[in-house]
Amino acid sequence: MFRSLLAGAMSLAPARALQAAWGRAGAAVPGRCAVCAAWPAHPVCEACVRRFAQPLPRCRRCALRVAPGVEVCGGCLRTPPPLDACHAAVAYGYPWAACIAAFKFRGEAGWARPLALLLRSTPWVEPALEAADLVLPMPLSPQRLRERGFNQAALLARLLAPRRCDATLLLRLRPTARQVGLDLSLIHI
Ligand SMILES: [Zn+2]
Ligand SMILES: [Zn+2]
Repeated sequence: MFRSLLAGAMSLAPARALQAAWGRAGAAVPGRCAVCAAWPAHPVCEACVRRFAQPLPRCRRCALRVAPGVEVCGGCLRTPPPLDACHAAVAYGYPWAACIAAFKFRGEAGWARPLALLLRSTPWVEPALEAADLVLPMPLSPQRLRERGFNQAALLARLLAPRRCDATLLLRLRPTARQVGLDLSLIHI
């Protein structure tokens, strides 16, 4: 029984509320929106959140986009995945891909809090977190951890479920290819 939370659905926890939460969580000194450079913003402005983080209908099993009113995509109906549910806050595309890249590949650990807030605002994520016995981040290989300096999944998991996160229970037995550029069918955890 697994649920997977992808950085990637938003209960229009209104953009304004998300902005306020980001503001409370962020630095005392306001900065510019990382997307449109509007100032001040923490760290993505209200207009950009409203424009780029609208909740979209997604398959309840794999989080792929589906037509309105469809709950489970054809692929998951034909071949049910081993996951009970998958939640995606946003598509891995403009502008979020750049934010996630800054978080994962440029060592900007400060993105953990805004991305965790974005994920928490996604439909069905809050109930999934409440129902979870444990929230387990996928570990990095020792080499990847040395390169990156932190495990981005562990930072997100601790922010999403501080009392039920355990980053020590899973072990990565073999290094896997970077997900960037991989076809969906080639992505292995
Ligand atoms: Zn903006
Ligand atoms: Zn599906």
